[in-house]
This record gives sequence, structure tokens and C-alpha cells, in this order.
Amino acid sequence: MDYKKVTGRIFDIQRFSIHDGVGIRTIVFLKGCVLRCKWCCNPESQEYKIETMMVQGKPKIIGRDVTVEEVLKEVEKDRAYYNRSGGGLTLSGGESLCQPEFTKALLYGSKEIGINTAMESMGCADYKVIEGILPYLDNYLLDIKHMNPDKHKAFTGRSNELMLENAKKIAKSGMTNLVIRIPVIPTFNATSEEIADIAKFANSLQGVKKLHLLPYHRLGQDKYEGLGRSYPMDHIVPMEQEYIEMLLDVAKKSCDLECQIGG
Ligand code: SF4
Repeated sequence: MDYKKVTGRIFDIQRFSIHDGVGIRTIVFLKGCVLRCKWCCNPESQEYKIETMMVQGKPKIIGRDVTVEEVLKEVEKDRAYYNRSGGGLTLSGGESLCQPEFTKALLYGSKEIGINTAMESMGCADYKVIEGILPYLDNYLLDIKHMNPDKHKAFTGRSNELMLENAKKIAKSGMTNLVIRIPVIPTFNATSEEIADIAKFANSLQGVKKLHLLPYHRLGQDKYEGLGRSYPMDHIVPMEQEYIEMLLDVAKKSCDLECQIGG
């Protein structure tokens, strides 16, 4: 089948992003995720089905089916900015690996037209799926949320074994631009011990050079209301800058990686 005709379901395309990989990038948000992280700032990404969300009092349809060709046409518009900044296409979500054929075709198509590729993902899929897309992926921004399987399950709905195994395999595959990202969430993983554990694991992965701490924020809170859902982290207060800097220091002392706050 012609890869350009492969269809997938997305809920947004954002141009001119500077926080999701190197340089200026276009972010394509895919619909569907197998986790249900309590802090998720894109709750409209979780369900694969097309939904209606109230936004500023008006109903908004979330999700549309598109072809790879349509998406790449949009992505190509900013080629001049990518060339100057080292940017390109970033797939986000949701979890791109939940739509493996579409993800592979998009990454393949992007490389075909000379555009750099990145993917934000937590690696929760059969490794065969990941292996199939790695040849077309320049940067893997891999979330590692917790080292403890029970705590991981309590806050995301799934245990972490598969994701940690996949992280090891991705690192072993020779993927050189593998960045480990930790969403830092109070009551979940925002202690020195928990951050140190993840930093040590990241350090053990061959080829990883960078570790990013992504502090919890409440920007997605209104979306829960818009979807008729209650916000699961209502009682959680974002961390003070001083505290997150202390955790950054812990991360730096626990590994040899280049550590930073933000992505
Ligand atoms: S993995 Fe990401 S998209 Fe999926 S539920 Fe968690 S935070 Fe949301």
C-alpha cells in the first residue's frame, strides 16, 4: 500500500514548537493511549474515539481522521524553519505507538522528504512495533515515570515492566538521540530517592546523554471539566522552583548525563 494513503487519527497539529525536540518543530498529536496517568495534561488524547469537549462554553470535536499525505503537506510548510534550526516533525499524543502503521508511515514519509523526526512516547508496545519504526526516527524522547511497578500501576493504570524492558532494547539498538524524560509529579515520584532511582536507570542505558525533568503543572485541568470528567490531581499543588532545582541536583549527582528542567 502507498504509505501516503495510510490514515490515522489525530487531534491537533501545532506549529513552531520549541519544547519537543531539537529546533523549531511541528507537533502532530495522535489520539489514543493505553495509560491513564492521573496528571495527564491532554486527557482528550486518551480515548481513541472521536469526542466532544466543551471549550470556553462551546462544543469542540476532538479527533479527525487524516492521511499521511495530508499531515506531511502541513508539516512541509515550515521546512525553511527546520533547516535553519535543526527542527522537524515531532509525534506526540496520546501514544503514537497505539497507531503503529500510521506512525511508521508518517516517520517514513517525513524522512523521504528530508525532514528530521522525533517522537514523544513512553514505549508501551510490543518491541517489534518499536523496532519497525526506529530506522525512521532521529530522536526518541522516552518517558520513564517510575521504577516501582506497583506505584506505576496505581498512578497510570499499568505496571512498568514492558516499558523498562523496551527502554533497554531501544538503547541497545544503537539509537543515539535517546533522551529520557521524567514527568515529576508530587505524591507520585517527586522525592530525591525516586528521582535518583530513575536517573541511575537512565545512566545505565547505553547511548543516553540527556535527562529532562518535566515538572507537574495544572494546564490540562479545564479539559477534564470540558470532557465531563473530574480532575484526579485536584489536591496536588505544583512544586516550588527551589524544590525542582533540588531534584535536578539529585539527578545530576545520580548520573553522568546532561540534566535539565524542561524539554
Ligand atoms: S502516557 Fe502521556 S498521553 Fe498517555 S495518559 Fe500518560 S500522560 Fe497522558
